[in-house]
Amino acid sequence: MTGQRQSKVAVSVDLDAVACYYRIHALGEPPVGRARFAILRRCLPRFAELFARHDLRATFFVVGADLEADGEGRALLGELARAGHELGNHTHTHRYDFARLPSAEMAAEIDRAHAVVGACAGAAPIGFRAPGYAINAEALDLLRARGYRYDSSVFPSAAYYGAKAVVMAAMRALGRPSGSFLDDPRVLLAPRAPYRPAPGAPYRRGAGAGDGLVELPIAVTPLARLHVIGTSLIVAPDWLRRHMVAVALRAPFFNLELHGIDLADAEADEIPPALVARQPDLRRSLGHKLAALDETLAAAQAAGARFVTLRDADALSA
Ligand SMILES: [Zn+2]
Repeated sequence: MTGQRQSKVAVSVDLDAVACYYRIHALGEPPVGRARFAILRRCLPRFAELFARHDLRATFFVVGADLEADGEGRALLGELARAGHELGNHTHTHRYDFARLPSAEMAAEIDRAHAVVGACAGAAPIGFRAPGYAINAEALDLLRARGYRYDSSVFPSAAYYGAKAVVMAAMRALGRPSGSFLDDPRVLLAPRAPYRPAPGAPYRRGAGAGDGLVELPIAVTPLARLHVIGTSLIVAPDWLRRHMVAVALRAPFFNLELHGIDLADAEADEIPPALVARQPDLRRSLGHKLAALDETLAAAQAAGARFVTLRDADALSA
């Protein structure tokens, strides 16, 4: 053994349905054919295989209403939970205005998903991720009151925030406002490493350790704060992807966030062309995307990192 600290890599997958992307891009009525259940029925099995190849247990953030609507997806997620993967709460209906809802509605979004995700996993979820990365102090209090151990919604990426602001302004100018919302800009100053948020200030480290809820921010690079998530790994040129991964692996904890749609095969999964036209990641072949993620996970192993689920992050027991 060298004296070097072994880094931990937690891979999570947000299982946002294709309908979510319709809301972001203001595309109107979501698709009803194969694309409707494509994320749980077509993409999720590809993630299961990818993770099995790397002997990795991941965290899946599940939208409660999608579980209720899809018995096939529910069965697969139950199987994955029994195999040691973690199921987290991604709200009941994935409203992008979640953090702007009145407290009772926010609580209902958490509680309904808590019940169906817990029933599917066989154990109550202890981790939460907000839709569109927008969290607030009130939501964290609701999670604490329900025994949640961590939240993983904070995404302190200036590049992502800036790009999202530009696209949303353009859509507003075109008279087709996005269904998405921008987070509080204070998120850009949030710590990059796990922390216990101060009361009333989700983006600030609180005083003292305590046993409160832990925030597990999504990975960004130091200084430039480039977002190291599935979409950026898939669309980046090879050299940039390898660079971002190498930098992220230098941190003691690498919280790698992916989305179900990252392993969509646009043609075979019948993703409508209107959506494919708006998302460059959907225009990459499934082979390319799998190769990018395979290479990333292999790089983590080569660097001596250990894969953990988010519920097993060191910060929760520190
Ligand atoms: Zn989501």
